[in-house]
Amino acid sequence: MRTPFVAGNWKMNTTKSTAVDLAKGVAKSAAATVDIGIAPPFVYLDAVGQAIAGSRVLLGAQDVYFKPNGAFTGEISVEMLKDLGVRFCLAGHSERRHVIQEPGDLISLKAHAIYAGGLILVHCVGETIDQREADETLPVVRRQFDELSEKISDPARLIVAYEPVWAIGTGRNATDAQAQEVHAFLRQELAVRWNKDFADRVRIVYGGSMKPDNAGALMNQADVDGGLIGGASLKADSFLGIVAAAEKKRA
Ligand code: PEP
Repeated sequence: MRTPFVAGNWKMNTTKSTAVDLAKGVAKSAAATVDIGIAPPFVYLDAVGQAIAGSRVLLGAQDVYFKPNGAFTGEISVEMLKDLGVRFCLAGHSERRHVIQEPGDLISLKAHAIYAGGLILVHCVGETIDQREADETLPVVRRQFDELSEKISDPARLIVAYEPVWAIGTGRNATDAQAQEVHAFLRQELAVRWNKDFADRVRIVYGGSMKPDNAGALMNQADVDGGLIGGASLKADSFLGIVAAAEKKRA
């Protein structure tokens, strides 16, 4: 049985004091049976890390640069994240792919740097609405898997987030069946590229307008192992409502 993973991606939201309050609210009630993470903006990582110290909540980063150090103005390295207690890092989030225009080869370098540095890699994939309507969802997510290689060999440190672009921040989530179809396909791809045992251990989480009222049904799907949460992670109550749905799956 895979331990569900539920992580909040706070994006470019919160202030230092609201970030600390939110982190404390999450840490206070963090469930014991699922893995929980929060990814605040870079500038609040230190304060949030201190706010959740001693709790079960994992500190995460939303992005990173792949070089270890040097003349890369404005960038942050994996070692810097580790210095602040970061345990997981996203790569390939839809907003980095589609808003910031990050190309697949850069995402691949980042993903491998995150993994090689000893962090948990949360690799995000997902199709746009045009791609879904053109029936290209599975080829698109398969291509995004090409960003990963067999160097990523520990299934406990790879989490795949399936996040349809059209569902992120729109209030329109994938149906349970749509999510399960893609998750099952991704698990099959993992088995082909690595092996079945590896595929069975990797957590594949869903992201895209997940809320307490739809989380239970999504997580009831066999291959949905948790969630990556944007908007609903900005309030402790709604985030913990989703965590509670993950706990039910575990029970
Ligand atoms: C996300 O940004 O990863 C996300 C899933 O956002 P939201 O929950 O707001 O759709």
